[in-house]
Amino acid sequence: MNSSKKIILSVAVPIPLHFSFDYLPPDGCNPEQLKPGLRIKIPFGKQSKIGVILAINSSSDINTSKLKQAEELLDVEPLLSAKDLQLLHWTQLYYHHAIGDVFISAFPSALRKGKSSELKPTPYFSLTEAGQATDASTLKKAPKQQALFKLFQTQSKAINIAVISQHFKLWRPSLNALLKKELVYESNFIALPTKNICITQQTPLAANEQQQAAIDSINTKLDKFSVFLLEGVTGSGKTEVYLQVIEQVLARNLQVLVLLPEITLTPQLEARFKQRFAVPIETYHSQHTERQRQSAWLAMQKGHSSILLGTRSALFTPAPRLGLIILDEEHDASFKQQEGFRFSARDVAIVRAKMLHIPIILGSATPSLESLYNVDKQLYQLLRLPNRAGNALPPKLALLDIRNQQLQEGLSPPLIREIKKTLAKKEQVLLFLNRRGFAPTLICHSCGWVAQCKRCDANLVVHYRQGKIRCHHCAGEQPLPRSCPGCQSEELKPLGLGTERVENALKVIFPEHKSVRLDRDTTQKKGVLEQHLDAINQGKVDIILGTQMLAKGHHFPNVTLVVLLDVDSGLFSIDFHAPERLAQLIVQVSGRAGRAEKKGRVIMQTRQPEHPLLNTLIHHGYQAFAQAALAERKAAALPPYSYQALLRAVSLEKDTALEFLLAVSELVNSYPTHSTWVLGPVAAPMAKRAGQFRYQLLLQDTQRKQLHLLLNRLLPDIAKLKLARKIRWSLDVDPIDLY
Ligand code: ADP
Ligand code: ZN
Ligand code: ZN
Repeated sequence: MNSSKKIILSVAVPIPLHFSFDYLPPDGCNPEQLKPGLRIKIPFGKQSKIGVILAINSSSDINTSKLKQAEELLDVEPLLSAKDLQLLHWTQLYYHHAIGDVFISAFPSALRKGKSSELKPTPYFSLTEAGQATDASTLKKAPKQQALFKLFQTQSKAINIAVISQHFKLWRPSLNALLKKELVYESNFIALPTKNICITQQTPLAANEQQQAAIDSINTKLDKFSVFLLEGVTGSGKTEVYLQVIEQVLARNLQVLVLLPEITLTPQLEARFKQRFAVPIETYHSQHTERQRQSAWLAMQKGHSSILLGTRSALFTPAPRLGLIILDEEHDASFKQQEGFRFSARDVAIVRAKMLHIPIILGSATPSLESLYNVDKQLYQLLRLPNRAGNALPPKLALLDIRNQQLQEGLSPPLIREIKKTLAKKEQVLLFLNRRGFAPTLICHSCGWVAQCKRCDANLVVHYRQGKIRCHHCAGEQPLPRSCPGCQSEELKPLGLGTERVENALKVIFPEHKSVRLDRDTTQKKGVLEQHLDAINQGKVDIILGTQMLAKGHHFPNVTLVVLLDVDSGLFSIDFHAPERLAQLIVQVSGRAGRAEKKGRVIMQTRQPEHPLLNTLIHHGYQAFAQAALAERKAAALPPYSYQALLRAVSLEKDTALEFLLAVSELVNSYPTHSTWVLGPVAAPMAKRAGQFRYQLLLQDTQRKQLHLLLNRLLPDIAKLKLARKIRWSLDVDPIDLY
């Protein structure tokens, strides 16, 4: 290579550092081939790593004779477009996270490891010239062939087997026959028709008035950036709105990205999309194998697929013709990554839509306070579906005061009566308790000893059936002790309520009725949850008991009574997000009731029947609750009226993390003028976890820009602190869990 025209590659390497690395191009590579967005294999220390080329420069801060040479280019064409890179750059700056980590997170794991980005060719089929000249009626003696042949006639271009199998079950013999008759031929080209032809294969439902209004509002703004907040309870027909808007976007030959929380991306939803649209649809979630994720990602990236249904990690999937983003259950905490690269898929999705000048729809029955605040500021457009589609009635919510009640394993006598009445009508009951295990505490009645995790500030949870006491915060577990380790007494008693305990009680109180428990302990084996759900839908189960798992996604049409056994535990948390979470949970769980024509009821057991939050929610609805909660946040200058960044530090020795954060807060205070508040350092709510001591320091500012300017200055200074190398620390921008 000509030394007067040096080529230096700036590469994002997946290691926890805030800068990129310079390399010389690999041997024998054509300089023309070098483009940002290509994956490249590079030597790093004693190993090789896979990085992403960010820029091609002609100089380096480092003496070029000291630069190492990259090993090989892994792609012919960049997998990430200029727009994709722009989004990742923005995200890296906003979250102040290690560059390589951010860029590599755009790829599915197979591509991160350097696997090939070639898609295996899938066979496509189209009509031969003879086929185009043939009338379908000539095949009337072979109706299956005729039907398949007609499908080809409705398509102007090649179709693949995925599309064929969406229309027909046993299509292989008919296709073989058409191939043999030379009416159809096979080609291995991957490129799909440039137009999404024959988009719908199922007539959309006739939209009701509110649905139509929402669809119309969105459709008038398909060619620009706008954020729509579609608020509607479960069953109000949000998905139908998505489908009808998607149809318009597909008609413009554009792609659609649909993001959902892990648990709501069910095979049923996937089937609903596939029934509606005859275009290639891919799904992307953690249940898929590495290969499946890779091929879904590539199909979208190469523009072959029209719709991607995915979870948080699908957010960065490149899509050359992206025309719409939908993010369902936008309030859901799972959209925020809680470790490593702590990005909010919702917030970054909005930035992506803005960069691409396309609309984004956020859907929820219980919008986040941030989104409602943005509606108030007229940044988002609110669209409401106040009624349930198909005449289903909304459930009625009521508090049940359990002060002075003799509870039977958490169930009060009036509650037991209500459950009995419901069961007598052959209707189903759903009991919600967000605590698995038998009881959250094991206590000695003689000396007061409590079983605690040695590595965490947490009690061990009794799991009777497995004969264990377990920590829900680390992997710790022990056999259930028979006598107290403190005083040898055998007066060990489980204290409090978990789903396992309630399950036992149900068998005693309602011996004639079948109950099923759905929580992480009972549904670990693959397929078990689906079996239980089938049994429930077939009416083989009378009482459904479960945790968080029940709150989302699943529909139980025959459930007419929903019970929250204990709402109080959600009322007293030090995290200011807690009331919002609780209200969302109550509405979500309530949404399981009475989806069919039967009216549903929701009973919440509480010892706080006067609690203002609960009462606002019950008597005036979620919107009223949200406005009240926003007013409280405003008075306290909490987000969304201010912006936060949380520094967390953990260390094995008790004080190191604290010392580190004290040094950080001193740094901040040493800067001359800034408006940012420094709160702490304080011990984390769980001060010890998995053997590590945990502390945190909160930075808060009423101006986002000021906070980020401060972080820009602070982070390089932190890196210079000696203690920074001794402990693990992380930064969480816009934390949703002050934990
Ligand atoms: P959401 O996504 O808000 O839970 P869905 O779109 O899944 O709501 O709709 C709930 C149920 O109501 C579905 O069974 C759906 O088929 C039906 N539905 C939705 N819109 C209509 C409509 N306009 N007319 C009749 N049924 C509808
Ligand atoms: Zn004891
Ligand atoms: Zn533990």
